[in-house]
Formats: sequence, structure tokens, C-alpha cells
Amino acid sequence: MLRHHSAQRIIETSDVSDILQAVISGKRPKLNDCIHLIRSDNIYALGLVSGFLRDKIFGKVATFVNNIILNYTNVCITYCKFCAFYRAPGHNEAYTLPISEIVKRVLTSKQLFGISQVLIQGGHNPNLNIEYYEDAFREIRKRCPDVGIHGLSASEIDMIAKVERCSTVEVLSRLKDAGLDTLPGAGAEILDDAIKHQISPLKIKSDEWLRIMEEAHKLGIKSSATMMYGTLEDEEQQARHLMKIANLQEKTGGFMAFIPWSFEPNMTQMQSEGLIRYPSGGLRLLKMIAISRIVYHNLINHLQSSWLTNGIGMAQLALTYGADDFGGTLIGEEVVTATGARSTELTSNTIVSAIKQIGYSAHERDNFYRLVKKH
Ligand code: SF4
Repeated sequence: MLRHHSAQRIIETSDVSDILQAVISGKRPKLNDCIHLIRSDNIYALGLVSGFLRDKIFGKVATFVNNIILNYTNVCITYCKFCAFYRAPGHNEAYTLPISEIVKRVLTSKQLFGISQVLIQGGHNPNLNIEYYEDAFREIRKRCPDVGIHGLSASEIDMIAKVERCSTVEVLSRLKDAGLDTLPGAGAEILDDAIKHQISPLKIKSDEWLRIMEEAHKLGIKSSATMMYGTLEDEEQQARHLMKIANLQEKTGGFMAFIPWSFEPNMTQMQSEGLIRYPSGGLRLLKMIAISRIVYHNLINHLQSSWLTNGIGMAQLALTYGADDFGGTLIGEEVVTATGARSTELTSNTIVSAIKQIGYSAHERDNFYRLVKKH
């Protein structure tokens, strides 16, 4: 029960009061409920319930991971219309980091910032075979055994399988043996093929993303799940995305966290074609965070606030709307930087201050969400 009468009253008078009351008494929303929640403008009522669910599990504790993002190549042959990061093979700004440089960046970040995770992501580069990834992971594992390797989207796994002409299970299994710990869950965008056809026609389809995640979970590779909202999808497509991930989680239990991202249109083909001009903004972020907490309560524990595209202030608010994790320090992020979206270099001190400013206790976690240090 929500303790404050005024909070109870706000929920009771909202347009989704039946759904919210059922959620408070332990019922998980179904697809139609989820569509109604997304269509509701009563974000404050949603936030009261999602904040209540969050506090039940985590109290006033917020976590973050001390990490680096390593974008190993920007060469890509998938040409997603929402992406400002990629360069075609042969482009004068195209780059691929040699393995020695990858290892050097991890080592230096470990020494300077004490990172406990490296998030490795890049383009779909047809010139890289599986040995490139295996060698990089083995070397990181050997030189920095306590840095978790959180790497590669489902679509990068698919690209490696195409280069090697082998199955995605084989790629996952070999990369796990080389040191891959977890998958970041990127590349899902919206799990709806009609939308994918419009925004990323050359990328893997929804069922392939789900299949690769299921394969990873069965091999013991845990992952995050993501959603990029704010392109061309409608509320029903967003709700179906949330449900598809919930269904897979019920089967495998392999998702550690969910991360809703808002689309950043700057410098993208979608913006230049006039399809989307502006980002979806702060209110939408709070709504998506609240609904994610409500839908995944007792199913996917961790929910990351998206400071990378929305800034620190919004991430603070998101913590009160249901998020429990601030994400990473993300030193060296280049994908979002390519859109010109805010600073992507945060150090742990800035995150700790941001968490403390709203009266929460800041805990550093590792790649598996285990608490390692209270600040
Ligand atoms: S989002 Fe990934 S797959 Fe799509 S163009 Fe950008 S780098 Fe390539």
C-alpha cells in the first residue's frame, strides 16, 4: 500500500487507476494495460507507483559502474538511418583500433580510474574475423582479470557469424571461452520489423535479436536489454517491445537490466530526411522509466537511467521514477558523441555527487551488479 493519502488519491483519480491499483497489489500488466499506460498523460501517477516499486527493492540506494566505452571500429555496412557514428568502408574518417590499442586503453583506464567494466561496441565491420575479438578479449582477460568484458550487440554477433560462415551459437561460445562476460543488449531498437524496415532495413530482424539473446542466456552469458524509443514507432509497438523482452525473461532469466534509450536525431539521416527533427525529451523519458519499472517489477531487477542522451538532471529525476542504476562513467564514448549530445565523459565523482544531491546513497557495482563500494 502507498502510505500517503495524497499519493493514493492521485493514483485513484488517474485515467489508468485500475491498472496501477492492480500493479500495487502485485499484478503484472499485460499488453493492453501496457498500451494504456504508455498512452496516459498522467506521468506523475505512474511515477508514484514506479518509485514505490523501486524503493521496495532498493530503498534509497542508487548504483553505478566505473567503466569505459570502447568503440573499436566505426566501419559499418548496415547504414542505420538513426546512426551518426558509422562510416562506410574506405571513408577517410573510418577507423579500426588495433588490438594493442584496445588493451592499452583498458589498462590505462584501469590504472587511472579503477574501472571494473569495459563496454565494447562498434560497427558491423566485414573486415574483422572472430580472431580479432578473441585475441582482444583474451588479452584484456590476461592483463586485467578483474575488468568485466561487457561487449557486442546481438547484431555484431550476427555479423561475426556471417563473416565466419558459422552459427551465432558458435560465435557466442568461442567469445565466451575467450573472456566475454556479458552482452549489452544493444541493437534491439524497437522489436518490430515494420519499424526496423524503415529505420535499419539491413539490420537483424526482431526474432533474430531475441534468438541470439536466448542463445547467449542458454550459454550462461547474461545480458541487458535495451529499447531505443522516439523514432517512428507508436505506443502499441513500444508495448509489444516491452512484452517480447518480458516473455523471453520468463523463459531464460538472463536479462540483468533494462535500459530505455531516447533517440538522438542530430546528424542522422532520419533528421536530414525530415523524418524526426527533435529528441523526445524529458517527460517521455520519465514515462518510459516508470512504465519499465512497472512492467518488469519482479522480473528484471535493474533499470538504468539514460543520462547519456538526457543529461545528469534528468537521470536524477529518473532515479525517483523507478531507475536504480545510473549506468556507467563511460569514459571515451563515441557513438552518442557523434550526435553532439552533451558531454559523455563523466567520472565517478560527478556521478556520486549527482546521486547524493537527491538524497540517495551511492554504491559502485561491478559488471554483474554486485555492490563493490559504498561512497
Ligand atoms: S547503429 Fe550500429 S549497425 Fe547501425 S549503422 Fe550504426 S554502427 Fe552500424
